[in-house]
Amino acid sequence: MSLLETACPHCGKSMVFSPIDYINTEERPEMIQKVRDGEAFVSICGHCGKKS
Ligand SMILES: [Zn+2]
Repeated sequence: MSLLETACPHCGKSMVFSPIDYINTEERPEMIQKVRDGEAFVSICGHCGKKS
């Protein structure tokens, strides 16, 4: 498991999330393509509640 920390593009505060937990490619093989497309790396900011 790896945690990613990034800054929210909306409010600029840091967000931490784990795409490995979020995406189980064994149970959801269709997510593999989304990961490649970058669509799966969506998190919701805990500060402003917007998706990024
Ligand atoms: Zn935010």
